Amino acid sequence: MLDVFYSKVLQITKEYLKEHGYNLENCEKNDKEVIRITEKMQVPCREFWKLRVTGILREITLILAIPNTFPDVFPKIYLSEKDFKKNYPIPHLDKNALICTRDPAVAVLNDAKPGKAVKELIEIAVKIVESGIAKENEADYIEEFLAYWNENVVNAILNIFAPKNEVCYLQIFKLSKKIFGYDYVLTDSKAYLEEWLKPLAVTITGDEAIKALYLPIKAFLPYALNTDNDLLKIVEDKNIINSITNYFNQNRSNCTLIASFFLNGENILFGWKHRQWKRIKGFRQNHIPLKIRLSCSKEEPIEKISLIRLDKERIFRRGGLMSTLVEKDVSIAVLGCGSLGSFLTMSLARCGISKFLLVDKECLLPENTPRHLCGFLEASCNMRKVEAVKKRITEHFPGTKCNVFHTDILELLEKDEKVLNSCDMVIVALGNRSVERRINYLLKRNLFNSSLLFLWVEPLGVGGHILYVNPKNGGCYDCSFDQEGNFIYSIFDTSESFHKRESGCQSTFLPYSSLTVEQFVLVASKVTSSLLDDSPNSSTLFTWLGDLEEFEKSGHKLNPVYDAQLPYRIIKKEIMKRDYCNTCGNLKTLA
Ligand SMILES: [Zn+2]
Repeated sequence: MLDVFYSKVLQITKEYLKEHGYNLENCEKNDKEVIRITEKMQVPCREFWKLRVTGILREITLILAIPNTFPDVFPKIYLSEKDFKKNYPIPHLDKNALICTRDPAVAVLNDAKPGKAVKELIEIAVKIVESGIAKENEADYIEEFLAYWNENVVNAILNIFAPKNEVCYLQIFKLSKKIFGYDYVLTDSKAYLEEWLKPLAVTITGDEAIKALYLPIKAFLPYALNTDNDLLKIVEDKNIINSITNYFNQNRSNCTLIASFFLNGENILFGWKHRQWKRIKGFRQNHIPLKIRLSCSKEEPIEKISLIRLDKERIFRRGGLMSTLVEKDVSIAVLGCGSLGSFLTMSLARCGISKFLLVDKECLLPENTPRHLCGFLEASCNMRKVEAVKKRITEHFPGTKCNVFHTDILELLEKDEKVLNSCDMVIVALGNRSVERRINYLLKRNLFNSSLLFLWVEPLGVGGHILYVNPKNGGCYDCSFDQEGNFIYSIFDTSESFHKRESGCQSTFLPYSSLTVEQFVLVASKVTSSLLDDSPNSSTLFTWLGDLEEFEKSGHKLNPVYDAQLPYRIIKKEIMKRDYCNTCGNLKTLA
């Protein structure tokens, strides 16, 4: 059925183009243009059409490659070899003579009118070539700088350095084995690189690192830098020229420059190499002005370097949204690495947070695994929960800083009162009321000044709470409990007890599924990142309602406050100080 459809579309398209005055010619399989194109193309093609088009300026010949699944896949338009040789380079024309007509990911071909769609595509291609020849679209070069820069690159190296706005020295290290297919890495810190490599079981090897110079510069056309002499055309800033002069004067065998410029909210990062200079007469080896040095080797070609970016800025920028968290370099303490704490840590790491302090006193047991981030592999060696979570996080994002404490949080705070002070936010996911109350008490006694978040889920997936306690204003953790010790905003009716006791064992646990935890964690991460961005002036409770219907259907009662609520909503409420609160109500008598 599909083959009939595809060949019919092909027929209609050809007829349409001919009707509209296009001089179309089917290429033979052994046509040299076809052979040239099929060598480079990954998409299998049904036909190739040769098309002579007369533009405003001149006649050009295009080759249309029609994919097997046209019109569901775009045709590609190439410039004939003759025209390519005459006009390359121009913007949007790659070294395989492909004219980049539009981004296939954002455009949908109009399959109701395939002929018209292809005609439009041809018109775009012609316009691109003509404005390229007329040098009208040179600015487009910069838009796609890296695509052009990387076209003829021989050297590609991995990069974990986040571009910044000042000149500095960087180091290029050789790896003990290839990762991502490359064996050199660029970094601004050897220690960070070693940390980064650990989870990948790769080390630094070889001779000394190559010292490279990093330059934040102004944007330039990607074809403007080809020889030694071109260097002075792209840098104007005196400080930068001085830095380069110094760097070259250090008499090194390898002169590698790394540069970046800012474009559309992103740093464009790339590099190149100059060959070593021979002795220059009349100058001491390390006192050669840059101009003199470059004029000696004028036409010596530079060697372009492409950087495979694995740095935080690049990796997280692609995901959008959370870029502010990445820039702020936020650190978070997670107290409790059980079900909630483990998933939340991973979720926050995915949002771009790369500094954690984890505290938990337990080891991972097989029965933890259905509701935990980690599984049997970690449980089988009785791994500490903090170590298991750290392992998962650093394997997912090498270089993530995880300070772990396998201990009771209160014992830790007794020994080191200031241990949490370096963190921007402390998240308490212990599911233990008395410990949570003690932490709340310490906050209210100004032991630490970071934001404090209490997180917990309610039984049977009925919902969860995120309680933000402002160190100065509003109520505290205790303020949200009544005098009988029940949580005032509980979603379930607190007259019922849900704690289950494992047979023959002393531990109790709340019944809820992993699905509830993971659903709640998504909400909690979103709330957490918004709090990190902008925290409210007063203590606030975020209540996430889970599957209320299911909960009632299974015979349980809701707190009447939530009777009229719909499931899967978030309710935000300010928590006020209560007079009877033991912690903040009568501070003086308890101090
Ligand atoms: Zn209080």
